Amino acid sequence: MARHTGPVCRLCRRERMKLFLKGAKCDSMKCPVERKPYPPGQHGRGRIRESEYLLQLREKQKARRIYGLLERQFRNLYAQAAKQSGITGENLLRMLEQRLDNVVFRANFAASRNQARQLVRHGHVTVNGKRVTIPSYETRKEDVVEIHQKARSNIVLRHNIDTLDRAVPAWLEAAPSDFKATVRELPLREQIDVPVREQLIVELYSK
Ligand code: SF4
Repeated sequence: MARHTGPVCRLCRRERMKLFLKGAKCDSMKCPVERKPYPPGQHGRGRIRESEYLLQLREKQKARRIYGLLERQFRNLYAQAAKQSGITGENLLRMLEQRLDNVVFRANFAASRNQARQLVRHGHVTVNGKRVTIPSYETRKEDVVEIHQKARSNIVLRHNIDTLDRAVPAWLEAAPSDFKATVRELPLREQIDVPVREQLIVELYSK
């Protein structure tokens, strides 16, 4: 599955906010958003003409970058969200949260969604006892996500479990010492703490 392979910190600088794409570096003084709080490139410090379209586009790009999706994947997910009953924007965010790589990240097994994606791709993660190597796998209520027996001595993973102390959302029950997390409920909008105004994404794609 394709993914963004270019410089990552530029993505945050473009959105003028920390998107926390790099793990430990994001909380340190090395974060480029702290040192260069303006968009990258030759015209980064120039005047930007604000428009409704620009606001909508930036909101969509922000959500896409936080969860590490390319445009086509994101658009397909939006199409699925629009077909479901309920509020399309909330459906979209819920589906993004249900992705297996996001669940691994939320359970504090990985320092970033990128790292979580790698754990999944390398076969270190099981769902209900079966190995799953697809980061976009949609977890469901009562799914049990575990780190595979063979990966439990992995130094990076152990370091993450010992040091990461991000709050685990209420819809997920994590037991890092058992290398296990259970999806208790599907996430509600108020339990999703990403700085995205999903209504603007809906407006953009509805044009
Ligand atoms: Fe974004 Fe983290 Fe890079 Fe800072 S260090 S710009 S938060 S990815």
